[in-house]
Amino acid sequence: MSATLYIVSTPIGNLGDITLRALEVLKDVDVVAAEDTRHSRKLFSKFGIKTPLISYFGAKEELKCKEVMKLLASGKDVALISDAGTPGISDPGFDLIREVIREGYGLISIPGPSAVISALTLSGLPTARFVFEGFLPPKGSARKKRLESLVDEERTLVIYESPRRTLKTLRELAKILGDRPAVLARELTKLYEELVRGKLSDIIKKVEATGLRGEVVLVLAGSCKKTQKETAGLDSILQEIAGKGLSLKDSAELASSMIDMPKRAVYQELLRMKSEGEKKC
Ligand code: SAM
Repeated sequence: MSATLYIVSTPIGNLGDITLRALEVLKDVDVVAAEDTRHSRKLFSKFGIKTPLISYFGAKEELKCKEVMKLLASGKDVALISDAGTPGISDPGFDLIREVIREGYGLISIPGPSAVISALTLSGLPTARFVFEGFLPPKGSARKKRLESLVDEERTLVIYESPRRTLKTLRELAKILGDRPAVLARELTKLYEELVRGKLSDIIKKVEATGLRGEVVLVLAGSCKKTQKETAGLDSILQEIAGKGLSLKDSAELASSMIDMPKRAVYQELLRMKSEGEKKC
């Protein structure tokens, strides 16, 4: 069997989150390639892992990738880990994974923690469809362009940020994307884990008042503009067909034939309007 690269997720704070399979693989492979070997030694000593560690430092990914490919070529199994969470998710690994696929070596994922999934699921914002933006470009026109490209995005947005840039980012998000529901997830799985929920303006006020430390993920509600436009159109159509004495189902069918909105969506909207007695995005 050809040599295999294992992509191994490690904890994002709480070392108790390491999986049994991750421990097994880290102990069994020939070499572990780690983003920062000093950092990973703590994990190794906690779990008694003695496997040789080599550096897979992101800034030198091209060179490091070649080293790992040589190991695989000599038949050695390698595990790739980053400082925290899942390699390749805003962490080094992408180049290596592509190369391993290209050369036809084995490739196995040992799944586990990733801050994007923890923050998203804790946010209480829709999880069925979401967009992971990783880190926004730090400044300049690339940053502005990226923010502007997100204005009409309807899916929930997940953004990684460093604590020292978070306030600036929150302010820009509020200015460009509008004051919308959001969650700031801080220090996930750690002692001072905190979730700040509210509109962007509420979170800004809180961060201005208390400052910010630790690691941060921002989760933002997607844009409601399209829904608002659709429901505004739906509203006037419903007024038109009101008084016809139609059932909810028939109203939905008729309204859907008069507006560019599927019958099921109109029906859901009618149900929602009925139960809430008001329309809000
Ligand atoms: N590979 C990692 C993953 O799977 O989540 C992400 C690594 S990226 C270099 C580091 C960023 O992830 C941080 O700046 C922060 O946005 C987020 N992050 C990592 N750990 C976190 C934690 N415990 N709480 C909140 N955010 C975290």
